[in-house]
This record gives sequence, C-alpha cells and structure tokens, in this order.
Amino acid sequence: MIKFGPSGTCERFKEAGFTATAQAAPWLNELGLDLFEYSFGRGVRVGDETARRIGAAFAKNDIELSVHAPYFINLATLDDQKAANNHEYILSSLKALRAFGGKRCVFHPGAPAGQTRRDAMNVLFRRLDALMDDVLSHGFGDLWLCPETMGKKAQLGDLDEIIEICRRYDMLLPCIDFGHLNARDTGAIKGYDEYKRIVDKLADGLGDFKTVNMHVHFSKIQYTDKGELRHLTFADDVFGPDYEPMLEVFRDLKLEPFVACESAGTQTYDALTLKECYKTLCRSVK
Ligand SMILES: [Zn+2]
Repeated sequence: MIKFGPSGTCERFKEAGFTATAQAAPWLNELGLDLFEYSFGRGVRVGDETARRIGAAFAKNDIELSVHAPYFINLATLDDQKAANNHEYILSSLKALRAFGGKRCVFHPGAPAGQTRRDAMNVLFRRLDALMDDVLSHGFGDLWLCPETMGKKAQLGDLDEIIEICRRYDMLLPCIDFGHLNARDTGAIKGYDEYKRIVDKLADGLGDFKTVNMHVHFSKIQYTDKGELRHLTFADDVFGPDYEPMLEVFRDLKLEPFVACESAGTQTYDALTLKECYKTLCRSVK
C-alpha cells in the first residue's frame, strides 16, 4: 500500500489552533492520510518521553511516522569534528525514530565543498562506513536510512550518486525527491516517460525491493540554472513537476512508496490531492 502524508505541520493545522505534533495524528487520520514526516531541520530537540507520547498518538491513529535528520549533515566533510557531529545527529535522529515507533530516517548526503565529486563521494563512503558501525552497535540495524536526491547541482545526491550510496548497505533505502531531481536538471521531468526512466534506473541499480518500497518526497520547486530555489505549492503551473504522471508510473509499476509531500505551507492538503488523484487513477484501469 502506498502511504501519503505531509512533511511537518501545515498552515491550516496552526490556523485550526493546534500546536502539539501529537494533535496532528487524529487530524491526519480524519483527513484520510497515512503518513507524517517529522523534520529535525535544525537539530534533534525532542526528548524521549515526548517522542514516546507522539509515537503512541500516531500508532493509535494508524499514521506511519518517518523522520528527517537535520538538514546541515554533510557526510563528505573533511573536518573530523564536523564528521563526529554528523554521526551524533544521525544517531539521535534514529533514537527519536525508535521512540516514535517509525522505520525510516531521511538524510542529506552532503556537498563536495571544493573537492571533486568523486573525491567527495570517497570521503562520504569513509564517513558512512564509520557511521554504520555506530548505527549497528547501537542496535538500529532494523531501521532504514534514506539518503535523499538533492535539488542543487552543487550538492551530492543526483540519481546516480544516491544509487551508488544505497548499494553499499542493505539498510540504505533511496529517498527520491522528484521535485529536487526536476529542479537540479532545470525542468527535465516533462511527464510519464521521464518518471519511468528514473524508476527503471533505480530498479536496474538497486533491484526491485528498494525500488518498490522507496521513500519519496514530492513538491513543486522553483529553480534557477543552479537548481532548487524554493518549494512551491500545487497552485504553481510554471516550474512543476506534474504529479499525475508520477502517480501513473507508481500504479503501472505497482510501486508502494511512502510519499511525503513538502509543499510550502499546503503540504497536508497537497498530500491529500496526491492520494485522491492516485485513487482515481487506480479506479480508471479497473
Ligand atoms: Zn530533505
């Protein structure tokens, strides 16, 4: 079953007078959504007790929880102190994920910052190997770490790089952000064929399981020639990409991703639009 839901709480949630994340659980359930991605954008600031309470609220409402590790993680860093901090951010994200009762932790691979992309990838693998030792010794080997395709050309995380990273360990599952891929290639995703090519490439590189069960981020994103500029809402009809052909590919290839919508402020209702569009598409083939 595909799961759809928002990344973070949206503007209408706040307008409705809600403040606590746990309150999002019954609200999303009532709307008919399946997933909530908790973002630790600027740091992991949720205590054990709070995390367990949030996890219980979401479990009761049958909403899957995933987490997004802090945005500034850079596994390609040459600085050992920063590398140690990165490990800490990922381990504390996984600890919170465990308390939430979730299974998936998305993270940003990093940026070359003056190195060639190949050198940066080699540094990243060295950091990743050390990180994975820690992850396994802390008993987190049953969770999924999801490196994300990134929206700026200067960042690591094009499709090939994410495939290469995910081949290294069983517990790495790709997070394919189609908005990012479209933005970094300045509008390359025109429709069904481009979406299918991405998924086919993923299946070639990673096999069926990691493709069928991939993590997905989706939003429309404004870009320049350097890639991502800012996240938009579904009201945009300039930058794209369009979601309908993506959902057709999911249907035709029988994919079952978790889809977190990252629209700017409208992510909950845009996630609902994705889910309803998908249901309509599935009905139209029967
Ligand atoms: Zn991200």
